[in-house]
Amino acid sequence: MPSRDTVIVAGAGPVGLLTALKLARAGVPVTVVEALPGVGQWPRAVVYHPPTVAALDELGLLEDMQDIGVTKKDYQWRTVDGEILLGLDMGILDGKTPYPYNLHLGQHQLAEIILRHLQREPGVQVIWNMRVTAVEQDADQVTVHAETPAGAKTLTARWLVGADGASSGVRKAIGEVFRGITWPERFVVTNVFTDYEAYGYAKANFIVDPVDFAVLCQIDKTGLWRVAFAEDADLPEATVAERLPERMARLVPGPYELVEMSPFRVHQRVVDRMRVGRVLLAGDAAHANSPIGGLGLTGGLLDAVALGDALVSVIVRGAPESLLDDYAAERREIFTSYTSPTTTENKRRLAEADPARQAADRERLRKVGQDPRLQEDLLLATNKLKGRSYVWEPGA
Ligand SMILES: Cc1cc2nc3c(=O)[nH]c(=O)nc-3n(C[C@H](O)[C@H](O)[C@H](O)COP(=O)(O)OP(=O)(O)OC[C@H]3O[C@@H](n4cnc5c(N)ncnc54)[C@H](O)[C@@H]3O)c2cc1C
Repeated sequence: MPSRDTVIVAGAGPVGLLTALKLARAGVPVTVVEALPGVGQWPRAVVYHPPTVAALDELGLLEDMQDIGVTKKDYQWRTVDGEILLGLDMGILDGKTPYPYNLHLGQHQLAEIILRHLQREPGVQVIWNMRVTAVEQDADQVTVHAETPAGAKTLTARWLVGADGASSGVRKAIGEVFRGITWPERFVVTNVFTDYEAYGYAKANFIVDPVDFAVLCQIDKTGLWRVAFAEDADLPEATVAERLPERMARLVPGPYELVEMSPFRVHQRVVDRMRVGRVLLAGDAAHANSPIGGLGLTGGLLDAVALGDALVSVIVRGAPESLLDDYAAERREIFTSYTSPTTTENKRRLAEADPARQAADRERLRKVGQDPRLQEDLLLATNKLKGRSYVWEPGA
Protein backbone atom coordinates (compact mmCIF):
# COMPACT_ATOMS: atom_id res chain seq x y z
CA MET A 1 0.00 0.00 0.00
CA PRO A 2 1.24 3.53 -0.67
CA SER A 3 1.53 5.97 2.15
CA ARG A 4 -1.95 7.41 2.58
CA ASP A 5 -1.06 10.74 1.03
CA THR A 6 1.59 10.06 -1.60
CA VAL A 7 1.29 11.79 -4.95
CA ILE A 8 3.19 10.70 -8.05
CA VAL A 9 3.91 13.45 -10.56
CA ALA A 10 4.79 12.24 -14.08
CA GLY A 11 7.07 14.73 -15.85
CA ALA A 12 9.87 16.94 -14.52
CA GLY A 13 9.00 19.84 -16.80
CA PRO A 14 8.19 23.17 -15.20
CA VAL A 15 4.53 22.21 -14.63
CA GLY A 16 5.24 18.89 -12.92
CA LEU A 17 8.03 20.32 -10.79
CA LEU A 18 5.93 23.30 -9.68
CA THR A 19 3.02 21.03 -8.73
CA ALA A 20 5.45 18.86 -6.76
CA LEU A 21 6.91 21.91 -4.99
CA LYS A 22 3.45 23.07 -3.87
CA LEU A 23 2.73 19.58 -2.50
CA ALA A 24 6.12 19.19 -0.81
CA ARG A 25 5.89 22.59 0.88
CA ALA A 26 2.62 21.42 2.46
CA GLY A 27 4.28 18.24 3.74
CA VAL A 28 2.70 15.90 1.17
CA PRO A 29 5.11 13.08 0.16
CA VAL A 30 5.71 13.38 -3.56
CA THR A 31 7.55 11.30 -6.15
CA VAL A 32 8.41 12.86 -9.52
CA VAL A 33 9.13 10.41 -12.34
CA GLU A 34 10.78 11.70 -15.52
CA ALA A 35 11.53 9.83 -18.73
CA LEU A 36 14.74 11.80 -19.41
CA PRO A 37 17.99 11.56 -17.42
CA GLY A 38 17.56 15.20 -16.30
CA VAL A 39 15.66 18.40 -17.04
CA GLY A 40 15.03 18.67 -20.82
CA GLN A 41 17.38 21.29 -22.30
CA TRP A 42 15.96 22.08 -25.74
CA PRO A 43 14.80 25.67 -26.50
CA ARG A 44 11.15 26.35 -25.66
CA ALA A 45 9.18 28.88 -23.56
CA VAL A 46 10.90 32.08 -22.57
CA VAL A 47 8.24 34.57 -21.40
CA TYR A 48 6.63 34.85 -17.94
CA HIS A 49 3.67 37.21 -17.75
CA PRO A 50 2.55 39.10 -14.59
CA PRO A 51 0.25 36.37 -13.13
CA THR A 52 2.99 33.75 -13.48
CA VAL A 53 5.63 36.07 -12.05
CA ALA A 54 3.30 36.70 -9.07
CA ALA A 55 2.77 32.97 -8.50
CA LEU A 56 6.48 32.17 -8.75
CA ASP A 57 7.33 35.06 -6.40
CA GLU A 58 4.87 33.72 -3.83
CA LEU A 59 6.81 30.44 -3.90
CA GLY A 60 10.13 32.25 -3.33
CA LEU A 61 11.50 31.54 -6.82
CA LEU A 62 11.60 35.05 -8.27
CA GLU A 63 15.01 36.09 -6.98
CA ASP A 64 16.71 33.07 -8.57
CA MET A 65 14.84 33.76 -11.82
CA GLN A 66 15.90 37.41 -11.80
CA ASP A 67 19.55 36.38 -11.36
CA ILE A 68 19.44 34.74 -14.80
CA GLY A 69 16.53 36.34 -16.62
CA VAL A 70 15.85 39.80 -18.03
CA THR A 71 13.01 42.10 -17.08
CA LYS A 72 11.08 43.15 -20.18
CA LYS A 73 8.77 46.15 -20.42
CA ASP A 74 8.87 46.97 -24.13
CA TYR A 75 7.09 45.30 -27.03
CA GLN A 76 7.07 46.07 -30.74
CA TRP A 77 4.93 44.90 -33.61
CA ARG A 78 6.98 45.34 -36.82
CA THR A 79 6.97 44.52 -40.50
CA VAL A 80 9.86 42.47 -41.81
CA ASP A 81 11.07 45.65 -43.56
CA GLY A 82 11.51 47.41 -40.23
CA GLU A 83 8.35 49.54 -40.02
CA ILE A 84 7.19 49.75 -36.38
CA LEU A 85 3.42 49.21 -36.36
CA LEU A 86 3.06 49.50 -32.57
CA GLY A 87 5.37 49.98 -29.61
CA LEU A 88 4.15 49.31 -26.08
CA ASP A 89 5.74 50.02 -22.72
CA MET A 90 4.58 48.01 -19.70
CA GLY A 91 5.64 51.03 -17.64
CA ILE A 92 2.04 52.24 -18.03
CA LEU A 93 1.12 49.49 -15.55
CA ASP A 94 3.39 50.94 -12.83
CA GLY A 95 1.36 51.34 -9.63
CA LYS A 96 -1.56 49.39 -11.14
CA THR A 97 -0.16 45.92 -10.63
CA PRO A 98 2.65 44.64 -8.37
CA TYR A 99 4.42 43.05 -11.37
CA PRO A 100 4.31 45.60 -14.25
CA TYR A 101 6.75 43.62 -16.39
CA ASN A 102 7.47 40.28 -17.99
CA LEU A 103 10.44 38.16 -17.05
CA HIS A 104 12.34 36.27 -19.76
CA LEU A 105 14.41 33.13 -19.20
CA GLY A 106 14.55 29.70 -20.78
CA GLN A 107 12.00 27.27 -19.35
CA HIS A 108 14.74 24.71 -18.67
CA GLN A 109 16.39 27.33 -16.44
CA LEU A 110 13.11 27.81 -14.58
CA ALA A 111 12.71 24.02 -14.26
CA GLU A 112 16.20 23.76 -12.78
CA ILE A 113 15.44 26.51 -10.27
CA ILE A 114 12.21 24.80 -9.19
CA LEU A 115 14.05 21.47 -8.96
CA ARG A 116 16.71 22.98 -6.66
CA HIS A 117 14.01 24.33 -4.34
CA LEU A 118 12.10 21.04 -4.49
CA GLN A 119 15.13 18.98 -3.51
CA ARG A 120 15.47 21.04 -0.32
CA GLU A 121 12.09 19.75 0.90
CA PRO A 122 11.69 16.54 2.92
CA GLY A 123 9.55 13.72 1.54
CA VAL A 124 10.54 14.34 -2.09
CA GLN A 125 11.87 11.74 -4.51
CA VAL A 126 12.83 12.53 -8.10
CA ILE A 127 13.38 9.47 -10.31
CA TRP A 128 15.04 10.10 -13.69
CA ASN A 129 14.98 7.68 -16.64
CA MET A 130 11.52 6.40 -15.72
CA ARG A 131 8.85 6.59 -18.43
CA VAL A 132 5.21 6.00 -17.49
CA THR A 133 3.69 3.41 -19.83
CA ALA A 134 0.43 2.33 -18.18
CA VAL A 135 -1.87 3.37 -15.35
CA GLU A 136 -4.47 1.45 -13.36
CA GLN A 137 -6.65 2.75 -10.57
CA ASP A 138 -9.29 1.74 -8.07
CA ALA A 139 -11.17 3.62 -5.38
CA ASP A 140 -8.12 3.85 -3.08
CA GLN A 141 -5.00 4.08 -5.18
CA VAL A 142 -3.40 4.47 -8.55
CA THR A 143 -0.77 2.09 -9.92
CA VAL A 144 1.81 3.42 -12.36
CA HIS A 145 3.73 1.07 -14.64
CA ALA A 146 6.96 2.46 -16.01
CA GLU A 147 9.98 1.58 -18.11
CA THR A 148 13.47 2.17 -16.73
CA PRO A 149 16.96 1.15 -17.92
CA ALA A 150 16.80 -1.55 -15.21
CA GLY A 151 13.51 -2.93 -16.53
CA ALA A 152 9.83 -2.46 -15.80
CA LYS A 153 8.84 -0.89 -12.43
CA THR A 154 5.54 -0.39 -10.65
CA LEU A 155 4.75 2.43 -8.23
CA THR A 156 1.59 3.10 -6.28
CA ALA A 157 0.19 6.29 -4.80
CA ARG A 158 -3.08 7.90 -3.79
CA TRP A 159 -3.01 10.38 -6.67
CA LEU A 160 -1.22 10.72 -10.00
CA VAL A 161 -0.54 14.02 -11.75
CA GLY A 162 0.11 13.71 -15.49
CA ALA A 163 2.36 16.67 -16.28
CA ASP A 164 4.26 14.78 -18.93
CA GLY A 165 3.87 17.18 -21.82
CA ALA A 166 2.10 17.23 -25.16
CA SER A 167 2.77 13.55 -25.94
CA SER A 168 1.75 12.56 -22.40
CA GLY A 169 2.00 8.87 -21.57
CA VAL A 170 -0.42 9.36 -18.68
CA ARG A 171 -3.05 10.92 -20.96
CA LYS A 172 -2.77 7.99 -23.36
CA ALA A 173 -2.85 5.48 -20.50
CA ILE A 174 -6.16 6.83 -19.20
CA GLY A 175 -7.62 6.89 -22.70
CA GLU A 176 -8.15 10.65 -22.98
CA VAL A 177 -8.24 11.90 -26.57
CA PHE A 178 -6.23 15.07 -27.35
CA ARG A 179 -8.85 16.77 -29.51
CA GLY A 180 -7.99 19.53 -31.93
CA ILE A 181 -5.65 20.29 -34.80
CA THR A 182 -1.98 20.40 -35.68
CA TRP A 183 -1.09 23.63 -37.51
CA PRO A 184 0.09 23.01 -41.09
CA GLU A 185 3.38 24.91 -40.71
CA ARG A 186 6.61 23.69 -39.18
CA PHE A 187 7.88 26.13 -36.55
CA VAL A 188 11.61 26.61 -36.10
CA VAL A 189 13.07 28.03 -32.89
CA THR A 190 16.62 29.28 -32.77
CA ASN A 191 18.69 30.72 -29.94
CA VAL A 192 21.26 33.22 -31.19
CA PHE A 193 23.73 35.66 -29.75
CA THR A 194 23.06 39.03 -31.35
CA ASP A 195 22.07 42.54 -30.28
CA TYR A 196 18.65 43.49 -31.62
CA GLU A 197 18.41 46.45 -29.23
CA ALA A 198 21.36 48.08 -31.00
CA TYR A 199 19.15 48.13 -34.12
CA GLY A 200 16.17 49.76 -32.35
CA TYR A 201 14.20 46.62 -31.57
CA ALA A 202 12.39 46.08 -28.27
CA LYS A 203 13.16 43.15 -25.95
CA ALA A 204 10.11 41.39 -27.43
CA ASN A 205 9.08 41.81 -31.08
CA PHE A 206 6.35 40.36 -33.26
CA ILE A 207 7.14 40.38 -36.98
CA VAL A 208 3.89 40.64 -38.98
CA ASP A 209 4.23 38.99 -42.39
CA PRO A 210 2.44 36.19 -44.28
CA VAL A 211 5.75 34.36 -44.91
CA ASP A 212 8.30 35.75 -42.49
CA PHE A 213 6.06 36.08 -39.41
CA ALA A 214 8.26 35.62 -36.38
CA VAL A 215 8.82 36.27 -32.70
CA LEU A 216 12.12 37.81 -31.60
CA CYS A 217 12.89 38.28 -27.92
CA GLN A 218 15.83 38.48 -25.57
CA ILE A 219 16.14 35.31 -23.48
CA ASP A 220 18.51 36.16 -20.66
CA LYS A 221 21.30 38.37 -19.37
CA THR A 222 23.96 36.64 -21.48
CA GLY A 223 22.69 38.41 -24.62
CA LEU A 224 20.99 35.30 -26.00
CA TRP A 225 17.95 35.98 -28.21
CA ARG A 226 15.13 33.78 -29.48
CA VAL A 227 14.25 33.93 -33.17
CA ALA A 228 11.20 31.76 -33.91
CA PHE A 229 9.58 31.53 -37.34
CA ALA A 230 7.57 29.13 -39.46
CA GLU A 231 8.10 27.36 -42.76
CA ASP A 232 6.17 25.08 -45.10
CA ALA A 233 6.00 21.66 -43.42
CA ASP A 234 6.29 19.99 -46.85
CA LEU A 235 9.93 21.09 -46.98
CA PRO A 236 12.15 18.30 -45.64
CA GLU A 237 12.86 18.63 -41.90
CA ALA A 238 16.34 17.19 -42.44
CA THR A 239 17.38 20.31 -44.39
CA VAL A 240 16.03 23.04 -42.05
CA ALA A 241 19.61 24.04 -41.19
CA GLU A 242 20.47 24.55 -44.87
CA ARG A 243 17.56 26.97 -45.31
CA LEU A 244 18.30 28.82 -42.07
CA PRO A 245 20.89 31.40 -43.25
CA GLU A 246 18.54 32.82 -45.91
CA ARG A 247 15.70 33.23 -43.41
CA MET A 248 17.95 34.66 -40.72
CA ALA A 249 19.27 37.22 -43.22
CA ARG A 250 15.71 38.62 -43.36
CA LEU A 251 15.06 38.40 -39.61
CA VAL A 252 18.35 39.38 -37.97
CA PRO A 253 19.56 42.91 -38.82
CA GLY A 254 23.24 42.29 -38.03
CA PRO A 255 25.74 39.56 -37.25
CA TYR A 256 24.62 36.65 -35.11
CA GLU A 257 26.01 33.44 -33.68
CA LEU A 258 23.67 30.46 -33.88
CA VAL A 259 23.65 28.54 -30.59
CA GLU A 260 20.72 26.15 -30.97
CA MET A 261 18.00 25.32 -33.48
CA SER A 262 14.95 23.13 -33.11
CA PRO A 263 12.09 22.46 -35.54
CA PHE A 264 8.70 21.55 -34.06
CA ARG A 265 5.00 21.17 -34.88
CA VAL A 266 2.42 23.25 -33.06
CA HIS A 267 -0.96 21.97 -31.90
CA GLN A 268 -4.21 23.50 -30.78
CA ARG A 269 -5.60 20.68 -28.65
CA VAL A 270 -7.34 19.91 -25.37
CA VAL A 271 -8.56 16.83 -23.49
CA ASP A 272 -12.21 16.29 -22.57
CA ARG A 273 -11.38 15.65 -18.89
CA MET A 274 -8.47 16.94 -16.81
CA ARG A 275 -9.53 14.59 -13.99
CA VAL A 276 -10.22 10.89 -14.40
CA GLY A 277 -10.66 9.41 -10.93
CA ARG A 278 -7.33 9.59 -9.12
CA VAL A 279 -5.47 10.93 -12.16
CA LEU A 280 -5.20 14.65 -12.87
CA LEU A 281 -3.71 16.27 -15.94
CA ALA A 282 -1.91 19.62 -16.06
CA GLY A 283 0.03 21.74 -18.55
CA ASP A 284 0.74 20.51 -22.07
CA ALA A 285 -0.50 17.02 -21.15
CA ALA A 286 -3.98 18.58 -20.99
CA HIS A 287 -3.84 21.42 -23.51
CA ALA A 288 -1.50 22.74 -26.19
CA ASN A 289 -1.56 25.91 -28.24
CA SER A 290 0.39 28.11 -30.64
CA PRO A 291 3.35 29.64 -28.79
CA ILE A 292 2.73 33.14 -30.23
CA GLY A 293 1.98 35.30 -27.18
CA GLY A 294 3.62 32.96 -24.68
CA LEU A 295 0.45 31.54 -23.13
CA GLY A 296 1.30 27.83 -23.24
CA LEU A 297 3.57 27.63 -20.24
CA THR A 298 1.68 30.47 -18.57
CA GLY A 299 -1.48 28.33 -18.57
CA GLY A 300 0.48 25.27 -17.46
CA LEU A 301 2.16 26.99 -14.53
CA LEU A 302 -1.17 28.42 -13.41
CA ASP A 303 -2.62 24.87 -13.67
CA ALA A 304 0.21 23.73 -11.39
CA VAL A 305 -0.57 26.38 -8.79
CA ALA A 306 -4.29 25.55 -8.88
CA LEU A 307 -3.74 21.78 -8.81
CA GLY A 308 -1.12 21.97 -6.06
CA ASP A 309 -3.50 24.00 -3.90
CA ALA A 310 -6.46 21.73 -4.70
CA LEU A 311 -4.56 18.52 -3.86
CA VAL A 312 -3.15 20.03 -0.65
CA SER A 313 -6.69 21.12 0.29
CA VAL A 314 -8.02 17.58 -0.26
CA ILE A 315 -5.08 15.69 1.28
CA VAL A 316 -4.13 17.96 4.19
CA ARG A 317 -7.21 20.04 4.95
CA GLY A 318 -9.97 17.52 4.30
CA ALA A 319 -11.63 19.38 1.43
CA PRO A 320 -14.16 17.36 -0.60
CA GLU A 321 -12.68 15.63 -3.64
CA SER A 322 -15.13 17.58 -5.78
CA LEU A 323 -12.59 20.43 -5.49
CA LEU A 324 -10.50 18.43 -7.97
CA ASP A 325 -13.44 18.32 -10.38
CA ASP A 326 -13.69 22.08 -10.03
CA TYR A 327 -9.99 22.37 -10.88
CA ALA A 328 -10.43 20.16 -13.94
CA ALA A 329 -13.50 22.00 -15.20
CA GLU A 330 -12.23 25.53 -14.63
CA ARG A 331 -8.74 25.07 -16.06
CA ARG A 332 -10.19 23.42 -19.18
CA GLU A 333 -12.76 26.20 -19.53
CA ILE A 334 -10.05 28.89 -19.30
CA PHE A 335 -8.17 27.13 -22.08
CA THR A 336 -11.16 26.66 -24.39
CA SER A 337 -12.76 30.06 -23.82
CA TYR A 338 -9.64 32.25 -23.63
CA THR A 339 -6.21 30.67 -24.23
CA SER A 340 -7.03 28.69 -27.35
CA PRO A 341 -9.00 31.39 -29.21
CA THR A 342 -6.47 34.08 -28.21
CA THR A 343 -3.43 32.12 -29.38
CA THR A 344 -5.24 31.14 -32.59
CA GLU A 345 -5.97 34.81 -33.24
CA ASN A 346 -2.40 35.83 -32.35
CA LYS A 347 -1.13 33.47 -35.01
CA ARG A 348 -3.67 34.65 -37.60
CA ARG A 349 -2.78 38.30 -37.03
CA LEU A 350 0.93 37.69 -37.43
CA ALA A 351 0.56 35.58 -40.58
CA GLU A 352 -2.47 37.27 -42.21
CA ALA A 353 -2.22 37.31 -46.03
CA ASP A 354 -5.59 38.88 -46.89
CA PRO A 355 -5.06 42.63 -47.62
CA ALA A 356 -8.42 43.71 -46.14
CA ARG A 357 -7.81 41.83 -42.89
CA GLN A 358 -4.21 43.07 -42.79
CA ALA A 359 -5.52 46.64 -43.04
CA ALA A 360 -8.05 46.01 -40.24
CA ASP A 361 -5.30 44.49 -38.06
CA ARG A 362 -3.06 47.51 -38.63
CA GLU A 363 -5.91 49.87 -37.81
CA ARG A 364 -6.40 47.98 -34.54
CA LEU A 365 -2.70 48.31 -33.69
CA ARG A 366 -2.88 52.04 -34.51
CA LYS A 367 -5.86 52.46 -32.16
CA VAL A 368 -4.10 50.55 -29.37
CA GLY A 369 -1.09 52.84 -29.84
CA GLN A 370 -3.28 55.89 -29.24
CA ASP A 371 -5.34 54.63 -26.31
CA PRO A 372 -3.68 53.90 -22.93
CA ARG A 373 -6.80 52.06 -21.74
CA LEU A 374 -6.57 49.59 -24.68
CA GLN A 375 -2.86 49.20 -23.93
CA GLU A 376 -3.57 48.32 -20.29
CA ASP A 377 -6.26 45.81 -21.36
CA LEU A 378 -3.82 44.17 -23.76
CA LEU A 379 -0.93 44.06 -21.30
CA LEU A 380 -3.05 42.71 -18.44
CA ALA A 381 -5.06 40.23 -20.54
CA THR A 382 -2.95 37.33 -19.25
CA ASN A 383 -4.72 37.75 -15.87
CA LYS A 384 -7.62 35.96 -17.59
CA LEU A 385 -5.61 32.74 -17.29
CA LYS A 386 -5.53 32.95 -13.48
CA GLY A 387 -8.88 31.56 -12.35
CA ARG A 388 -10.01 31.08 -8.75
CA SER A 389 -8.08 30.08 -5.64
CA TYR A 390 -8.11 26.40 -4.63
CA VAL A 391 -6.91 27.04 -1.10
CA TRP A 392 -9.77 25.57 0.93
CA GLU A 393 -10.49 26.16 4.60
CA PRO A 394 -12.82 23.98 6.72
CA GLY A 395 -16.21 25.66 7.00
CA ALA A 396 -15.50 27.87 3.99
C1 LIG B 1 9.35 26.37 -29.40
C2 LIG B 1 8.40 26.62 -28.30
C3 LIG B 1 8.35 27.87 -27.76
C4 LIG B 1 7.47 28.11 -26.74
N1 LIG B 1 7.41 29.36 -26.19
C5 LIG B 1 6.57 29.59 -25.17
C6 LIG B 1 6.56 30.86 -24.49
O1 LIG B 1 7.32 31.79 -24.81
N2 LIG B 1 5.72 31.02 -23.43
C7 LIG B 1 4.90 30.00 -23.03
O2 LIG B 1 4.14 30.22 -22.06
N3 LIG B 1 4.89 28.80 -23.64
C8 LIG B 1 5.71 28.56 -24.68
N4 LIG B 1 5.76 27.32 -25.25
C9 LIG B 1 4.99 26.23 -24.69
C10 LIG B 1 5.74 25.60 -23.51
O3 LIG B 1 7.03 25.17 -23.90
C11 LIG B 1 4.94 24.44 -22.97
O4 LIG B 1 3.64 24.92 -22.69
C12 LIG B 1 5.61 23.87 -21.72
O5 LIG B 1 6.75 23.12 -22.04
C13 LIG B 1 4.65 22.96 -20.95
O6 LIG B 1 5.33 22.51 -19.80
P1 LIG B 1 4.97 21.09 -19.21
O7 LIG B 1 5.76 20.97 -17.94
O8 LIG B 1 3.49 20.90 -19.19
O9 LIG B 1 5.50 20.06 -20.30
P2 LIG B 1 6.99 19.76 -20.77
O10 LIG B 1 7.84 20.96 -20.60
O11 LIG B 1 6.87 19.16 -22.11
O12 LIG B 1 7.50 18.69 -19.71
C14 LIG B 1 7.00 17.37 -19.73
C15 LIG B 1 8.05 16.44 -19.16
O13 LIG B 1 7.48 15.13 -19.09
C16 LIG B 1 8.45 14.19 -19.56
N5 LIG B 1 7.73 13.02 -20.06
C17 LIG B 1 7.12 12.87 -21.24
N6 LIG B 1 6.52 11.68 -21.31
C18 LIG B 1 6.75 11.05 -20.12
C19 LIG B 1 6.36 9.81 -19.58
N7 LIG B 1 5.59 8.94 -20.28
N8 LIG B 1 6.77 9.49 -18.33
C20 LIG B 1 7.53 10.35 -17.60
N9 LIG B 1 7.92 11.57 -18.08
C21 LIG B 1 7.52 11.90 -19.32
C22 LIG B 1 9.21 14.93 -20.64
O14 LIG B 1 10.49 14.35 -20.86
C23 LIG B 1 9.29 16.33 -20.05
O15 LIG B 1 10.44 16.52 -19.25
C24 LIG B 1 6.64 27.06 -26.27
C25 LIG B 1 6.69 25.79 -26.84
C26 LIG B 1 7.57 25.56 -27.85
C27 LIG B 1 7.63 24.18 -28.45
